[in-house]
Amino acid sequence: MDGARPAPGGDQLWREADLGYVLILPSMLLWALHNQAWITVSRLQNTRGKRQIVDRGIEFEQVDREGNRDDQIILSAILLLLGAMYLPGGQHIPLWRTDGAVLLAVLHAGPVEFLYYWFHRALHHHFLYTRYHSHHHASIVTEPITSVIHPFAELLAYQLLFSIPMITCALTGTASIITFEIYLIYIDFMNNMGHCNFDLVPCWLFKWSPLSSISYIRHRFILFTILSSGHTTLFSCHSMTTYTTPWISHRTHCMKTHLRTKKKN
Ligand SMILES: [Zn+2]
Repeated sequence: MDGARPAPGGDQLWREADLGYVLILPSMLLWALHNQAWITVSRLQNTRGKRQIVDRGIEFEQVDREGNRDDQIILSAILLLLGAMYLPGGQHIPLWRTDGAVLLAVLHAGPVEFLYYWFHRALHHHFLYTRYHSHHHASIVTEPITSVIHPFAELLAYQLLFSIPMITCALTGTASIITFEIYLIYIDFMNNMGHCNFDLVPCWLFKWSPLSSISYIRHRFILFTILSSGHTTLFSCHSMTTYTTPWISHRTHCMKTHLRTKKKN
């Protein structure tokens, strides 16, 4: 037909493709692979038994209960797809934007971690604990993937909470693919590390090295060790908050609890 626009060729199609949209599936596969790597390393470490925190085996019921761990990846994929399709500023996002990366980091370290901390403490209140959060703590010996084993409502709440920085970036036009990918990997890495049931960084390293003076890093890593032991003590402090100053006394208590647990083991 005269004047009609020719159908775009393969090259043009790729140039016009929304890379952020296209990369959602590969990044979800990478996520699953990342989880599997943590599970494998954690089970190997636990078999060696050298740096194990809770020195017990995993139960069959736990493996069955945690078998639906891909649910959260599927839910994330759906939410990311919805964002890439309908959220203003979520389409054709660039590979990198420094302002967006800074905005996301500030939002995560500030409001998101603050809300996460108090949300998690609320989940340990009897009312919410018996109805929701006890499902997560039913795994006494944690596996990395225990971090995402929650009832659906709780899972959805976490997803919405962690999407705050990403949605804000999109709405302010500062979203970028690499920032979002790093953010997803960061959250997943911290979650896996927090439940891996072995000391990723040995305690002696903190005790006898200059690292001990860097309280932020020290708190951070010890807290994740506590998280694993927290499933036996039902201790409620496993926030990944960066608020070292306001909660320092709380965390000192965490460390003492952790060290007591270590001694018993
Ligand atoms: Zn908890």
